[in-house]
Formats: sequence, structure tokens, C-alpha cells
Amino acid sequence: MTDCLFCRMVAGEIPADVVHQTDRVLAFRDINPQAPTHVLVIPKEHHPTIGALAAADPALLGEVVSGAHAVALQEGLVTDGGAEPGYRVVTNTGPQAGQTVHHVHLHVLGGRGLGWPPG
Ligand code: C5P
Repeated sequence: MTDCLFCRMVAGEIPADVVHQTDRVLAFRDINPQAPTHVLVIPKEHHPTIGALAAADPALLGEVVSGAHAVALQEGLVTDGGAEPGYRVVTNTGPQAGQTVHHVHLHVLGGRGLGWPPG
């Protein structure tokens, strides 16, 4: 989609601080980080929400989740086979959850203690 910000990042039309990618998944640092590590993981193909992606291509959803874990390993948020210190994966769907970019993305957050429940 030419009017989608994240599609334009995938196309290289808008710069992104890429930390990890595969043929179908892209991960880049959030421009407004909410934690020492804040990376967005997206499918390169446009899907508006996690539900739409799950319905259209569940294997790709799995690749996006694997991408999130790969980023966490790379950023030192967990070790291979371990779960410490830890990280959080969040995806916002719809206005009440605060979704502002309508290309599904997983937020990978870590590097500090994270409160619960979220705001
Ligand atoms: O979940 P939500 O849709 O609100 O998340 C969108 C995210 O995209 C925000 O965290 C925002 O900082 C990020 N963003 C970005 N680069 C842009 C525009 C938005 O990293 N150019």
C-alpha cells in the first residue's frame, strides 16, 4: 500500500533503523522508544491488524512472533533457552488500544522493569 508508512519503510522509501529481517519479516527501532529496547516487528506484506494477519496467513504470523524472539535474543533480553531478564511483546488493535499505524506490528519492549497492568 503506497499510503502506508510501514510499507514505505519496507520499500526503502522512508529510512528505518533495521535490526533484523528475513525475506518476509522486518524489525526496526521505534522512533519514540518507551524502553531501552523498543523494536517493532512487522510482516513485509501489508495486513492491518493481528487478527487480519492470523486469518490471511497464520504461518506469517508465526514468523513475525519468531522475529520478535530473535530480536529479544539479539538485544540480550533473554538467553537462548532462558527467559531472563525478560521482555514484553505488545500489539495494539483499534483506537481504544491506541493503534496509530494500520500495518500490524509487534512492539518488543525490554531493558527495564515493565509495570502491569499497562496503561
Ligand atoms: O501501536 P501503535 O500503532 O500506536 O504503534 C505505532 C508505533 O510506530 C509507535 O510506537 C511509533 O512511535 C512508531 N513509529 C515509528 N516510526 C514512525 C512512525 C511511528 O517507529 N515514522
